[in-house]
Amino acid sequence: MSRRRQIYEGKAKVLFEGPEPGTLVQYFKDDASAFNNQKRGTITGKGVLNNRISEYLMSRLAEIGIPTHFVRRLNMREQLVREVEIIPIGVVVRNIAAGSLSERLGIAEGTALPRSIIEYYLKKDELGDPLVSEEHITAFGWASTHDLDEIVQIALRVNDFLTGLFLGISIRLIDFKLEFGRLYTDDEVRIVIADEISPDNCRLWDARTNEKMDKDRFRQDLGRVEEGYREVARRLGILPEGGPVDFKAPRLVQ
Ligand code: UDP
Repeated sequence: MSRRRQIYEGKAKVLFEGPEPGTLVQYFKDDASAFNNQKRGTITGKGVLNNRISEYLMSRLAEIGIPTHFVRRLNMREQLVREVEIIPIGVVVRNIAAGSLSERLGIAEGTALPRSIIEYYLKKDELGDPLVSEEHITAFGWASTHDLDEIVQIALRVNDFLTGLFLGISIRLIDFKLEFGRLYTDDEVRIVIADEISPDNCRLWDARTNEKMDKDRFRQDLGRVEEGYREVARRLGILPEGGPVDFKAPRLVQ
């Protein structure tokens, strides 16, 4: 990992120069942060699980024709992605009230929303990622009306698909955040999903017990954070026998 040139280090991931032009390597750390970086911690094994979960979900989306930056997983903590021009807007889709929506509007957590709601947040740490409107986005040129049309279409398709996929394994998709980028090819520019899709940026509740299986376990000090992420991976059927191991521990040879 250290031999490659580092492009960017975020809270949960590091981006390195990829093996070919137009590619990057996305490295998943165990570091976690919340409340605009005020709460920090480490969730041992999180990076390995998120790498695998995001690979799985992005691959399923690609199969139904939803474009993403994902190319392939390289190893336990790294994946190869296409280099895109990141649109500086976090796009949140909500099905059930939780988190900032519940706080801001006083709607009890767990209330089903009359329809899926899309929100935009400007990605700007210094400002704590403020909520912005379509008007702000187009007026300040962060994305065009055409980009936004594309983004909304993709976000709603992702929501429908992932809602069904998770319900099939008895998990409710409460809300999630997507990031988008512009992928430049020889003759066109396409809007694609970037970043990751994992329990770090989705709220996932057990459909029967409403138990939280996502980063809220970290945000709210509920404990057993890694177990929540691992259970999501287990239900998706992507957990290797004995769980993911990415360290060279002594192994008993029989
Ligand atoms: N989210 C995220 N990154 C952020 C803020 C939110 O991935 O910087 C995700 C979060 O995990 C949740 C959804 O977006 O699934 C909606 O989050 P919300 O606006 O309720 O904010 P929070 O309660 O996380 O501050």
